[in-house]
Amino acid sequence: MANLDPIWNKQIKEFDRALDPLGVNKVNDRMMNELLRGITTLTSRARYYSFYVWAIDQIRKNKLASTHTQFYRAFTDMERIFMLSCVSHTEEELEKNHNDVNGTSKGTKIWEETTGKIPLDFTYFGHRLGGYGQYYAGSINQLGLIEQLENDEFERLTQLGEKIIEPFDRIAKQTKFLSLLGKNSASKESIKEIGAKLCLCKLKDQEANEKHLLQKLFFSEIGNDDRGAIFRKESLTLFLSIIQQAKEKNMKVDAQSFLSACYFNQIKEDGKTLEINIPTKLSDVTDKWKIVKAHDNLAYTLESILQCFLQFIKTKSGASLAEFFETIFSDKLQKEINSLINKTDSKNDILDNNIKDVLELIISSNLQDANFSDIEKTSEDFDKKTSTLSKVNEHNCTKNIEDELKTKNPDISKIVANGIFLVLISASRMFWRSTQKTPAWTWLSNLERQDINIKEFCSEIKSEFESGQTSFKEFIISFIEKRVIDQHQIIYRHKLRNNSNPKNFFDKEGNNYVQVREYKARHRNIRFESVVSLLNDLNFVNQSDILECTIEGVKTIKRNTGS
Ligand SMILES: [Zn+2]
Repeated sequence: MANLDPIWNKQIKEFDRALDPLGVNKVNDRMMNELLRGITTLTSRARYYSFYVWAIDQIRKNKLASTHTQFYRAFTDMERIFMLSCVSHTEEELEKNHNDVNGTSKGTKIWEETTGKIPLDFTYFGHRLGGYGQYYAGSINQLGLIEQLENDEFERLTQLGEKIIEPFDRIAKQTKFLSLLGKNSASKESIKEIGAKLCLCKLKDQEANEKHLLQKLFFSEIGNDDRGAIFRKESLTLFLSIIQQAKEKNMKVDAQSFLSACYFNQIKEDGKTLEINIPTKLSDVTDKWKIVKAHDNLAYTLESILQCFLQFIKTKSGASLAEFFETIFSDKLQKEINSLINKTDSKNDILDNNIKDVLELIISSNLQDANFSDIEKTSEDFDKKTSTLSKVNEHNCTKNIEDELKTKNPDISKIVANGIFLVLISASRMFWRSTQKTPAWTWLSNLERQDINIKEFCSEIKSEFESGQTSFKEFIISFIEKRVIDQHQIIYRHKLRNNSNPKNFFDKEGNNYVQVREYKARHRNIRFESVVSLLNDLNFVNQSDILECTIEGVKTIKRNTGS
């Protein structure tokens, strides 16, 4: 069953976006592809998973195409009608969810400007296979709904695909959808009739089997039951469970608080702290999400330092690394670090200490009886005891960085102090997993390849713990040189070889670095918005001011966790 070059192969390749200057998204994207297989940031509407598969089936069944080119034309003809029907339905039920209808900006314009019949031959999307080719094809393939056999000119449905579209097909046949194919124009009324039944928003409230089949598909009760399917089911259940617990205390959940729930088993908002209870059946998958957060702690720190570095060399119209480090190692750095470890009266210069002493200082801040002769055990205890309420913790450091980056001229020393502490605290709590080979850590080992990630950083920290030769100051210098400055060059060189439009953020001229473009540090994308949107379409959650689970959502949590 050799695939020739199906269109979706391009879609599931790792992001090679012009951004990601330090390559820190690569491991994150791999983790996301495993934890949320079949769901990307751009596949936010559940009904597209039935409509697109149905469209392919219609083209085959009605012999509308035998070549690629005919397939593209037939496919976009169908998507254009579907898109227009969703546009027409927006007027009918304004309060319903009409976000992320593919091709809608062009479609709405045409709909509003046309008084008579709507033309059915305008271009509405850049991709030759519309929103399907651009966004959904890879995901629909990963869910096992389509395949492409060796001699196929274009994709076909799998048995599962045929099963999934049966209810949609029945509803579509109650409309004039198919009779519009091949027509140059259609009346607004006929489009509206289609929208009233087939609009993306109509899935949520329907009693028909379409919604139930899609629910089962995403929660892996039908279809593949491999690793990816199980991880997706567990991850989606985890989303529901955390949304439900937060709602009980009227707290909002977003991407960062979801990760906080996995990482600390706590959500913190406006001084309120909510303890999150992770069901035992979800503990392994939660530990994987915890690694996602730990990796973001490292990635966010590196990008924050990069952002400051770029601003610094811009202000100076070019500067050397020595000048950058001189600015970092000011009295402010010392002051900031002292405040992080609550030692405002300290006279000693912590920068002269060994990194090992700093790690011990961090750990004993939260763990009074720490025994450093058994660092594995100490790391595990530190992990269990460090929460958002502890003396030193990642939540505070992250907040400090976020707040500082919002200011007009972020203070470099403050960013470096909080960033270094953020990664040291994270590594101290994570590294016991490597000796114990926990399932989540083994999972990460298979995904890290040669790319920058929290695991390789943890092994560096662990060996510093064992040898204890490096001074804190040396450590900070090498952290920035290796993981920010050199890493940017490595990634850029790689892009030069593989990318037709490579972008760098700084250049080196002699000893001086000059800024090429700005960068704003960001957290990794965990596809939170599209997951919530899908769960809303599938009627597991309601998306109002505060997210809440529906009765079906609560039932699903119970069924999948036994609690
Ligand atoms: Zn609608």
